[in-house]
Amino acid sequence: MGLTKDFFIFLSQNKALNSGAKRWGLKLGAQSVVAGTNIPDMIESVKELNRHGISATIDNLGEFVFEKEEAIIAREQILKVIEAIHENKVDAHISLKPTQLGLDIDYGFCQENLREIVAKAYEHNILINFDMEDYGHLQPSFDLIDELSREYDNIGTVIQAYFYQSEDIIKKYKDYRLRIVKGAYKEPENLAYQDKKDIDRNYIKLIEYHLLHGKFTSIATHDHQVINHVKSFVKKNNISKDKFEFQMLYGFRKDLQLQLAKEGYNFCTYVPFGTDWYGYFMRRLAERPQNLNLVLKQTFNKKTNTLIGIGAGAFLLGRLSKKKNAKKGAKL
Ligand SMILES: Cc1cc2nc3c(=O)[nH]c(=O)nc-3n(C[C@H](O)[C@H](O)[C@H](O)COP(=O)(O)OP(=O)(O)OC[C@H]3O[C@@H](n4cnc5c(N)ncnc54)[C@H](O)[C@@H]3O)c2cc1C
Repeated sequence: MGLTKDFFIFLSQNKALNSGAKRWGLKLGAQSVVAGTNIPDMIESVKELNRHGISATIDNLGEFVFEKEEAIIAREQILKVIEAIHENKVDAHISLKPTQLGLDIDYGFCQENLREIVAKAYEHNILINFDMEDYGHLQPSFDLIDELSREYDNIGTVIQAYFYQSEDIIKKYKDYRLRIVKGAYKEPENLAYQDKKDIDRNYIKLIEYHLLHGKFTSIATHDHQVINHVKSFVKKNNISKDKFEFQMLYGFRKDLQLQLAKEGYNFCTYVPFGTDWYGYFMRRLAERPQNLNLVLKQTFNKKTNTLIGIGAGAFLLGRLSKKKNAKKGAKL
């Protein structure tokens, strides 16, 4: 397929395309991996997952938050999502990124926004999961978690296996509900494993540690080899199914998601929604350009703009393919 990772990352970071997309509605096949642009549509998608015994972690998509007004809009929207989870009695919790709540603007301002969200969720017994972003935001995010945890216990977070320091971090946070991932951002060699084999090895090590010593483990991966390893590890070590769950992103490996739920494993789908879907969608294509096949299959003949979008993309690719290191600063 000649469309490269760097190309999709470049598209994901294009601010003009990101703002344009807010006006388009879900296009280019994004509806296969984004659960709607508004709360009612997203709640319907969550109800559908719940009908299959799958819970949800809901992400209100948002990019480029450098103004206080944008962070406040995000906070208000997340508060509405919490109310919607409560009113609709769906099996769901929240995933959020501190940068969307103003971490790049002002630490104290971000902390106040997060406190309001965590407090509202606490009233309704809903978990707030702090997604982890790039290394520059790692320590401030853990500081926010530490401070808010003094008041509330409905907080979970993420451990990224590519960091050398993740083993120390996981020990410190073993009493938290942790989602363990390989890590999505481009990080330098002095901080993170670069080789897939090393990342995978550390990933397994951290999962096993938290399964044995931690509170609750969310194994967030589309990698069937890791999933199969976990299945035999828990069996061998007599680890009860209520101590862990598998997680995948909305729209990916749907058959495997359903199969794991049917086999009686706890399963939670990461459900992104909102008008700010464009960057997220392009990063999914960057992560695994084969995903374009999935999108094409689901949208071909349905929307001519899929073809127009991809055609325009292919044209741009010719002009941009020399762009190097474009993945720097990529998000989940
Ligand atoms: C629910 C969830 C939450 C996440 N939260 C964060 C976060 O907060 N911070 C962060 O840095 N990262 C996060 N990530 C991203 C994560 O760090 C990885 O970048 C991402 O999941 C890709 O790694 P992987 O483990 O899925 O498999 P990969 O290493 O990408 O793939 C391994 C193998 O799995 C198979 N495979 C993978 N995808 C597919 C597919 N779509 N279809 C068929 N086979 C496939 C292939 O055989 C592939 O070779 C999250 C991921 C998930 C699923």
